[in-house]
Amino acid sequence: MLRAAERGFRGLTELVFPLVFPDECRVCGEALREVSRVPVCARCLCDPQPLRAEFFCVTCRTPFLNRFPLDESGRCPLCRLGLTGFDAVYSYGSYEGSLRKLIHLFKYDKIYSLAWPLAGLLARVIPREERFDVIVPMPLHWRRQWERGFNQSEHLAGVIAKKWGVPMQRAVRRVKSTAPQAGLTNAKRRANVGGAFAIKRNVRLDRARVLLVDDVLTTGATAAACARVLKRAGAAHVALLALARTDRRVALQSFEMADAAAVAGAGGVT
Ligand SMILES: [Zn+2]
Ligand SMILES: [Zn+2]
Repeated sequence: MLRAAERGFRGLTELVFPLVFPDECRVCGEALREVSRVPVCARCLCDPQPLRAEFFCVTCRTPFLNRFPLDESGRCPLCRLGLTGFDAVYSYGSYEGSLRKLIHLFKYDKIYSLAWPLAGLLARVIPREERFDVIVPMPLHWRRQWERGFNQSEHLAGVIAKKWGVPMQRAVRRVKSTAPQAGLTNAKRRANVGGAFAIKRNVRLDRARVLLVDDVLTTGATAAACARVLKRAGAAHVALLALARTDRRVALQSFEMADAAAVAGAGGVT
């Protein structure tokens, strides 16, 4: 009798526990030893490194391979032309490796508990002396949010807001469901997101310092469109905070390596 009950209980725990405490890290696949709400091992959670660059724009922090795109004040061509719309950018790492995997687990596999460790990375990149009046999450179009079931930027913004005791306000709406930006040129991306955002009714941002939170920053065209709407509603300063940014230096470097290999190959033939 006891045996049967014991067997039943063991059967039940075997059935239930893998769901509650997954036995392997979802990033590296190693067995998880500690019970945690996050199905990722401590090593993988600590693995994402801050993006490092010798040359970067002082305003949008875009990394460059050399100093040639920057003017004497250290600004990139887009910032020089006033096309960014925001006043500062803070982002943690490069959108690759373990950081990319963690963002995917959070965003697409909906592992909400990752909001805390990921917000911890975000909190590290804001200088201590910076003060904000309001934290605004990058909105999703309602259809996208309905399909995904949640807005990942809002989860991150909520954790940061609680940590710092600054109010979070869903100040902006996405009024246009924009086509995917991948494969578009910078100018086309800007045209694609033109008119994509609107300020919500009754939102006033008189002279406010706004922190706009997003998960991944690509060219910044979407964030720029959103920042412009916030400025039009009265914001005095809009800073963008993102977990990761795509680092085009990697693509450029591999082009250069391919070029070098082609040259070496050509040299070998002659
Ligand atoms: Zn791991
Ligand atoms: Zn710039």
